[in-house]
Amino acid sequence: MRNFLLCLVLCSFIAGCQSVPYSNRSQLSLISENEETQMGREAWSEALNKEKISNDPFMNNAILRVGRAIADISGRPDFKWEFKVFSSNVANAYCLPGGKVGIYSGLFQYTANDAELATVISHEIAHAICRHGGERVSQHTLQAAGATLLGLASNSELVMAAYGLTTNFAGILPFSRTHELEADYVGLLLMAKAGYDPTQSIKFWQKFGNVDNSKLMAYFSTHPHGSDRINKLKEKMPEALKFYQQSQQKGLGTVY
Ligand SMILES: [Zn+2]
Repeated sequence: MRNFLLCLVLCSFIAGCQSVPYSNRSQLSLISENEETQMGREAWSEALNKEKISNDPFMNNAILRVGRAIADISGRPDFKWEFKVFSSNVANAYCLPGGKVGIYSGLFQYTANDAELATVISHEIAHAICRHGGERVSQHTLQAAGATLLGLASNSELVMAAYGLTTNFAGILPFSRTHELEADYVGLLLMAKAGYDPTQSIKFWQKFGNVDNSKLMAYFSTHPHGSDRINKLKEKMPEALKFYQQSQQKGLGTVY
C-alpha cells in the first residue's frame, strides 16, 4: 500500500507540473483545471447565499467597467466571468477559479479612481489565472499524502485536509509570499494591458499599506504585505509601461 501511494505521489508530481502565465514559474498541479473551476463555482454560490449583495450603482458600474476591461485582456475568454459587490465595511476582494470576482463595498473608500480599483481587481484576477488556489490544494494534498506515507495521518484525514482547503477557497487561508508577489507582477501587467496606468499601483499599495485601520485586517489576513512589494513593482514597471503604451495606442482604458 505504501509503495503504491509513494508511486502515486511521485507520478503525480512528475505529471502534475505546469508553467504559470507571464512568470513562467513551474507549479505543482495535482488537480485539473475543471476540478478547480468546479470548486470555485461551489464557493461562489455559497458566497452569493451568505453575503449581502449591494445594488449601489456607482460601485457596481465601477466593478463592471474595470473588471470587464481586465477580464477581456486576461487571456481567459473561457472563464464564466461574474462581478459582484458585497455590502460590508471590510476592505476585501477576491477572484475565485473560473472568474468569479467579489469586492466588498468597504474597499471603495480606499480607491480614488479606476486605476486604483484596477490595481486590486487585477491582483485578484492574477491569483485566479495563475491558478494559485489549485496549487495550494495540490501542495497540501501532497503534504497530506506524505504524512500518510509516514503513518502520521489516515486516509480519511487526507481527504479531510483536502476538503478543508476547498471549503476555504474564498481566500480564508493566506496566500504565500511567492503567490502574492507573483499576483502583484501579473496584476501589474494585466492592468497596463487593460489601459490603466500601472504607476498608480504603487501609489495605491503605499496608501493602502499605511492605513492604520482594523477594517483592513480582513484583506491583509489573506494578502500579507511586505516592504519589498513596492520595490518589486518598481523593478517590473518598465515591462508594464510597454504594455501600457500599446494599450493607449489601441485607445483602451478610461480617462478620468
Ligand atoms: Zn493576493
